[in-house]
Amino acid sequence: MTPFTYSRETDLAQATQHLAGNPQAKLLGGGTNLIDLMKMGVETPAQLLDIHRLPLAQIEALPDGGIRIGALARNSDTAEHPLVIKNYPLLREALLAGASPQLRNMATTGGNLLQRTRCPYFYDPAFSQCNKRRPGSGCGALQGYNRMHAILGQSEHCIAAHPSDMCVAMAALEAVIRVRSGKGERQIAFEDFHRLPGDTPEKETNLAPDEIITAVDLPPVSSSARSHYLKIRDRASYAFALVSAGVVVELEGNQIKWARVALGGVAHKPWRARVAEQALQGKEATPDVFRKAAEEALAGAKGYEFNRFKIELAKRCLVRALNVATAIA
Ligand code: SF4
Repeated sequence: MTPFTYSRETDLAQATQHLAGNPQAKLLGGGTNLIDLMKMGVETPAQLLDIHRLPLAQIEALPDGGIRIGALARNSDTAEHPLVIKNYPLLREALLAGASPQLRNMATTGGNLLQRTRCPYFYDPAFSQCNKRRPGSGCGALQGYNRMHAILGQSEHCIAAHPSDMCVAMAALEAVIRVRSGKGERQIAFEDFHRLPGDTPEKETNLAPDEIITAVDLPPVSSSARSHYLKIRDRASYAFALVSAGVVVELEGNQIKWARVALGGVAHKPWRARVAEQALQGKEATPDVFRKAAEEALAGAKGYEFNRFKIELAKRCLVRALNVATAIA
């Protein structure tokens, strides 16, 4: 491991100053991804700013009926919070589908938002080709083992997939991310937070280098809305999604008033499937309508040698998620 300095941050304003003053610094929250990357030599920060004692772990109700989840709230605590259980079962399902209990006990909201892809070529510096790790070096996955990789929104420079389950639920719930820097606070719509790879796959979010995530706000969801998170993976636990679907639907009788749809494991970012939402709105909640929406959602999908199966799998995953959500009494 490359030597680095360590400081324990106890004040948010001071932490933003330390971050702004050191472009080689990294923030340490739960450490469930960063420490692995440091051990592998993929991340080599000159300084670790340990922020886990900052007062950013609260989960609280908002006056509009929504909820604010602190950036340092542990994934386990969020999944078990009474407001999340009552009002955001989609988020709870997604959190509990992720990683293992031990990892969820450590992993934070902010860290989950910032976790890196699990592309094996990215994780192993012995592979020379990875535009995300070494811009301009090429993409080993394009012609290599790409079973877990993206089928939507990818570029010739990177076909990595985003690994988070939590983020898929947050995309469907239209979360808003609150960030702080020395210049003040700003909010970022969830859809604008993560980036597609384009020709700069090393840039994964629109977070500025001097900004710290402080919280995620979830707007209120109608009490009559139904939801479901479905994750398809190679084994029953502790595996990243091949594909996943997070859906929220409100019905009037059997007619769909509105729907929110996000897909996971299919793109460089949690994939909000607005075309599927449009295909569902105002229609009867039937398997044929769900299948048509899924066809629309994956219309632009492109597979590679080992992951073409994900296109049909993602469609079936979405149809099943919608079937389950709309069948809930
Ligand atoms: Fe690197 Fe992206 Fe290619 Fe993986 S898919 S090797 S992360 S450039």
